[in-house]
Amino acid sequence: MAEILNPFQIAQKQLDNAAEKLGLDSATHEFLRWPMQELKVTLPVKMDDGTTRVFHAFRIQYNTARGPAKGGIRWHPDETIDTVRALAAWMTWKTSVVDIPLGGGKGGVVCNPKELTETEKERLARAYVRAVGRTLGVTKDVPAPDVYTTPQIMAWMMDEYETLTGEHHPGVITGKPIPLGGSQGRADATARGGIYVVQKASKVLNLDLKGSAMAIQGFGNAGQNAARIGEELLGMKLVAASDSKGGVYNPKGIDANALIDHKIRTGRVNGFPDAEAISNKDLLELEVSVLFPAALENVITRENVSRIRCKILCELANGPTTPSADDILYEKGVFVLPDFLANAGGVTVSYLEQVQNTYNLYWNLTEIHFRLKETMHRAFDRVYEMSQNNRIHMRNAAYLVSVARVAEACKLRGWT
Ligand code: NAD
Repeated sequence: MAEILNPFQIAQKQLDNAAEKLGLDSATHEFLRWPMQELKVTLPVKMDDGTTRVFHAFRIQYNTARGPAKGGIRWHPDETIDTVRALAAWMTWKTSVVDIPLGGGKGGVVCNPKELTETEKERLARAYVRAVGRTLGVTKDVPAPDVYTTPQIMAWMMDEYETLTGEHHPGVITGKPIPLGGSQGRADATARGGIYVVQKASKVLNLDLKGSAMAIQGFGNAGQNAARIGEELLGMKLVAASDSKGGVYNPKGIDANALIDHKIRTGRVNGFPDAEAISNKDLLELEVSVLFPAALENVITRENVSRIRCKILCELANGPTTPSADDILYEKGVFVLPDFLANAGGVTVSYLEQVQNTYNLYWNLTEIHFRLKETMHRAFDRVYEMSQNNRIHMRNAAYLVSVARVAEACKLRGWT
């Protein structure tokens, strides 16, 4: 049978497994299989040369039983309604697994931002908010950055929303630049949260990570910060990193900050001195202590899973592992930190950003790091306990914890 690679079908299958193990009633199960609300819009946007291009875009509120929808906006040429649905579902489980009072949502624009100028990006960002703004709001749905969207894009979107409503609403979007109400610590929160749970995993596995190797696929926001913080907090050694144009490898170690500087200067990791080239495929198969997939979905599949040789797989990307690969990783003894736990640091600090916006009172970095660490460690402990008690892998355990909470909220509201 062909492997399922449609991310939404994967998300539904993962939920089905959890529903069965939890003994969910059929109405709640069916309700949680689908987004509560979807909006598809078509955006005509003026290009710098005077022509008009038409972009297709989406915003989905998957589930709002535990609070307003929360989730990023991705700009990517391969975006589809099903990718957005899957990401929105995973956001629902993510806010639940870290137990913050939010639901799940997601947005996307089908576009290649690398082909757009800054002024074109600004017009696209504003057009998006004009089209979907009626479904957004601090009490309804709060977007954030995702792949190829930035704090600057969040700033334009917030400004457009405030122009539409005629009021200040900094909490309508998170991941903003700090002078516009962004939070300290948001920029590296996803990676930092991932490192906090790697730290916990190494303790339960009795694994000394100091000086051990890490490899990172996807050297963007999540990947670069994981390299830097993995070095800083855990004393790990970066041996390989890649982006969409290829990768670099040096078993003796690559200085994370130097590689980040090189990527910022040249736009790619390729060409970094003192490292050889490595393909994205080979990078995943390196023998390392921690492998961080930090790019896109479906990179660890039935096809390559037998060659995966890391001890801990920390999924900073959403959906990097297919369900059939998951079971094999478990049998092989790879400790998987599943995406919606491993990368929940971003939404956790986004939540802290919203809280600060609401109070109009801002915390320092120490306060943010303390709250983030406490949240991630608590979530890890709960999921690990579930996995041990039921002898199941960490993804299934994370699903049981988070789906049970969302199902309970739906029931308490009288929805199902
Ligand atoms: P980003 O745009 O900053 O970086 C993405 C990186 O992936 C880029 O370096 C790009 O070159 C690389 N890439 C793209 N296609 C690739 C390919 N085929 N092979 C290898 N590399 C490729 O995005 P990001 O914010 O770092 O997000 C990365 C992943 O982390 C996504 O799955 C995203 O959903 C997830 N995530 C991000 C956040 C966040 O706060 N940034 C939060 C949660 C989850």
